[in-house]
Amino acid sequence: ERFPRSEGSPAARLPLYTNFRSGARILAAADTIIGPIPDAQRPDPDKELRPDPANGEGEVAVARHMDEWTEARSIAERVVALRATGAAWSDVAVLCRTSRLFGLLQRAFDEHDVPVEIVGLAGLLKQPEVVEVLAYARAVHDPKASVALARILLGPRYRVGFKDLALVARLATHESKLMLEYMTEDDVEAEPFLFAEALERLDEVEGLSDQARTRLTAFRDELRALRQEARKPVGEFLGEVIRRIGILDELDADLDRPRALGARRNLAAFLDEVHAFEPVEGELTLRAFLDYVDAVEELDKQDWAPVQPSDEDSVKVMTIHVAKGLEFDHVFVPGVAHGYLPNPTIPQNPAERGKSLDFELQGDAKVLPSFDGNVSRFKTALAAQEIVEERRTAYVALTRARRTLSVSGAFWYGDNNMPKKPSLFLDELMAWGASTGSASIQHGPEEPGHENPMLGLRQGFVRPWPGPARPDDADALFPGGWRAAAIDGIQPSLVEALPVADRAAFEALAAERRALAAHLREREALDARPGGERPPTTVSVGGVVDYTTCPKRFYWTSVRPLPRFSGPAARIGTEIHRWIERRASGQGQLLETDDAIDLTHEELAGDPGRVERLRRSFLASRFAGVVPLFAERAFLLRVGAFTVSGRIDAIYGEPAGPWEVVDWKTGAGIAAPMQLELYGLACVEIWGKAPEDVTLSYCYLAKDEVVSQPMGDPAEVRARVEASLEAIGAGVFDPIPGAWCTHCDFKGFCDVGRAWLAANA
Ligand code: SF4
Repeated sequence: ERFPRSEGSPAARLPLYTNFRSGARILAAADTIIGPIPDAQRPDPDKELRPDPANGEGEVAVARHMDEWTEARSIAERVVALRATGAAWSDVAVLCRTSRLFGLLQRAFDEHDVPVEIVGLAGLLKQPEVVEVLAYARAVHDPKASVALARILLGPRYRVGFKDLALVARLATHESKLMLEYMTEDDVEAEPFLFAEALERLDEVEGLSDQARTRLTAFRDELRALRQEARKPVGEFLGEVIRRIGILDELDADLDRPRALGARRNLAAFLDEVHAFEPVEGELTLRAFLDYVDAVEELDKQDWAPVQPSDEDSVKVMTIHVAKGLEFDHVFVPGVAHGYLPNPTIPQNPAERGKSLDFELQGDAKVLPSFDGNVSRFKTALAAQEIVEERRTAYVALTRARRTLSVSGAFWYGDNNMPKKPSLFLDELMAWGASTGSASIQHGPEEPGHENPMLGLRQGFVRPWPGPARPDDADALFPGGWRAAAIDGIQPSLVEALPVADRAAFEALAAERRALAAHLREREALDARPGGERPPTTVSVGGVVDYTTCPKRFYWTSVRPLPRFSGPAARIGTEIHRWIERRASGQGQLLETDDAIDLTHEELAGDPGRVERLRRSFLASRFAGVVPLFAERAFLLRVGAFTVSGRIDAIYGEPAGPWEVVDWKTGAGIAAPMQLELYGLACVEIWGKAPEDVTLSYCYLAKDEVVSQPMGDPAEVRARVEASLEAIGAGVFDPIPGAWCTHCDFKGFCDVGRAWLAANA
């Protein structure tokens, strides 16, 4: 009807029934997934794609594994086998529903020396080299980006110590305190004095070591220069950042060649993404780009946004949403597990007006469920509709394959402490394969077992960034090692014998080597200190609490940090905190019935309705209708040689009147008093409150209970904290086992904790 003939009658429809891409079995597998979609939601329900005989039969494999790592390695092995039969790396694509799977896939490919290209921005943003570049971009763009500033200053390039950073932060705190004193009631919204501003006034910072002053000055100058560069087009600016920060030189020196090559590829792909980015409206500014990056990072459910991978001979890893329109000889679709594919989370809940396009206005309004006044029925209908959308997504993934298609899923992903349920789609494909004999089927384990077999896996992957860029000292020419040779220099007469041009080149190279050797020696001398590691001099409030509970846990969290496991409880806690913060800033939702928290059904299994209960508890508390004076208020507190950093959930009261410091607790346990006491100390010492004007409250949302205590004697709190920090400084990290071992991330390999748990089972 949109393209009528010249005389006005509708044009004839000539549907494309032949698929010229995929083998017959691959098309049959895809039809199995798309089949259950109701006719009313298919543009042409009678359309049945016919394979082109020239494509042959194609091969389909369906497999279930125990865990994500086994799945990733099995894909890497299969890709190596395909290569051995003559396939190019670029004939292979791995298509995932979520970019969360990219990390272990990349690792498995690295292990098998398979070159990989991560295609699409969502996956690239998780790569360390891209994170580094973005940290500079954020630091240049936003003076409040203190996480980015700290990442750069503490990182390998500037290596400023915590102590020196704390001195700069102290100037910022001092200035903020002065500002606060002169603030009127109308000024409470004013920005505090920022760390970035303190960097501009380094002359006023007392006690900095000479080295730190030099490095901080160099960083400040670099930041100024980059701010000038930021006027250039975004792509050019980020290219300049990459050049200036020497990341490519670091990668050149990296002894892990496959990883360094992968990192270079990722940076190139990231710059391609930047060049391809265009904002919906307005100019392409650095701010628009960083906003876009934030949105992509937050959004796991993506829009369809096809991209073009490079021509490089590498395996292409991407999300299904960017793969539309592409085709590959060999396609792997991992992560077919309930929660990933299908992902039944309702992404566009019409109950959240303003966050998604109203249903009535959407192009597919006719097939979307309509709200008849019953919220629970409406949500069930939305969830069913979501499965239909997921079938379409899976269909797109499966039909990208020309010759071979491998679909797989596993029980365990990431650090979840609940296995994923089998995917409806994987079950359907296995049943189809078994009944028709058209697919090779690997049923794998029947049950997931009780414990995630990947617990502790990440521990083995922890590595310093930017990698082992420390060349070996041995050298065939210099028996004392090349470092000594570079530092001591060689006989002047030998240099003098060189032609003038060569002598200049030699001098330049020798100076560079001398600096590198001196730097390496300094690093190695520090690492060789008795005891090895250096305890931190900045400790978070959580760290102090951890230390008082079990010093060994603190050791594994802050001194030799091991990966922590963010289970459902932690994620629920984070989301509830965020929700309360949004409400505090007046961004509450119009309909409270909505469940917007991104947790899979099985992550919430065992405690259904927990999120709603916690929210109801907050709404019933005396804090619900009150706007806090401060929310998520960060602070740095000097205690002896240490700095304690913290963030207070909420402070209620008037600027000049009494304050109630509140911490939201979403778990069932009783919190340690030390946390609130440190918050109280910050109120007294940083914001100048009188101790008798400070009340400390834990709001236990799981128990509908608020427990309050007066501030107490600040000197006594300070003495207790100081004792703990001194013990940290002295390197005392003996384990103290107890009931807290049950929820300790490290109990898997802590002998003392395990023994205690066994004895008290
Ligand atoms: S398992 Fe127990 S003893 Fe071991 S580190 Fe954790 S809390 Fe400490």
